[in-house]
Amino acid sequence: MEKTRFAPRAAHIFATLFTLGNKRVGGRFFSVVFALIGSYFANSSLVKAQETEAQPTSNTPNAVILLYHHVSDKTPPSTSISPTNFVAHMQYLKENHHIVSLQEVVKALEDNTPLPDKAVAITFDDGYANIFENAHPVLVEMGFPYTIFINPGEIDVGPQQLTWQQVKLMHSEGVTFANHTLDHLHMLNDEQKLGHTAWIENVWHNVTSAQEIINTKLDVNLHYLAYPFGEFNQALTEKLKKNGYIGFGQHSGAVGPYSDKQALPRYPAAGIYANLDTLKTKLNSLAMPVSHATHSEPRLFQRQLDDPVTLTIDSEDIRLAQVTCFFGGEKIATKVTHNTVAFSLDKPLPIGRSRVNCTAPSLHQKGRYYWYSVPFFVANEEGRYPD
Ligand SMILES: [Zn+2]
Repeated sequence: MEKTRFAPRAAHIFATLFTLGNKRVGGRFFSVVFALIGSYFANSSLVKAQETEAQPTSNTPNAVILLYHHVSDKTPPSTSISPTNFVAHMQYLKENHHIVSLQEVVKALEDNTPLPDKAVAITFDDGYANIFENAHPVLVEMGFPYTIFINPGEIDVGPQQLTWQQVKLMHSEGVTFANHTLDHLHMLNDEQKLGHTAWIENVWHNVTSAQEIINTKLDVNLHYLAYPFGEFNQALTEKLKKNGYIGFGQHSGAVGPYSDKQALPRYPAAGIYANLDTLKTKLNSLAMPVSHATHSEPRLFQRQLDDPVTLTIDSEDIRLAQVTCFFGGEKIATKVTHNTVAFSLDKPLPIGRSRVNCTAPSLHQKGRYYWYSVPFFVANEEGRYPD
């Protein structure tokens, strides 16, 4: 990994990065992402300290949502951050960003009202006990709001999981708990085998069962769902929308006015993504205002993308000529016009999760990049998705 160095601000250095082990327990990497490293971060810790007044720089909302799983030295590296490094993240955030609750982000997106500049929301998936032990005290000390997406069917089951007693205590101290399905379901599994109607009935029953437990145990009524493994399709986003749910994925990117509120991206911050030097670029990222995409169904029944994907960008602030799209660890060919970016894939998509990430520098906000991720989910021959 290339580290950020003290270099002149004008020169932008592309550093290749990787991605991603979103498996909840143990894990192999399943997809590859790239991050950009600008030399902006040179001498930036002092600069940033001056930039953190709670003034929005734009009249539209922009935020970054971070995703953690384990906070422990003893859990699978790909989904873990060490307690020491977690403290370093929070300290950095305190000095350089504005931590907002997930509800504030969602409200701003719904009302299209601005958020503080460099707003960041903190989330955890899966409800591990080490959050209570190693993260919660730090977050309380910092005064940071945060959200845990839990599988209510697994709370109190086994020593790795939070207990309901802990959940209730944390909830009383301001922690938000939300839905991650009852039992960490691969929501897209067996869609073809069961047929669409039976499939979505099954899946929705799982979601509403989980929601009922959370509502009852905590006396809340917040309709947020984080898709397990970040896997979703258009039928699910439509179902969520119809039922008043906000949906959260695991593809990367900032959130803004054009984000799909039933598939909001989050940046994983564990494993190799826990490196603070590379995370800084993501924390400063801007939501690429994609007003239209020619490809909108992330679940594919084949491994080829038949047509190029064209993104229409609604912004005067993007240096589109400098857009870069990455897939599977490599830069891919793009065609750019004054307001569109098109990419095509000449390699087959892998089984499971993958994504194309596109980034482009801001014209006016020096050192900041617009970021957009196009996720793909491909089932294996049995119609199922690997962990
Ligand atoms: Zn999960």
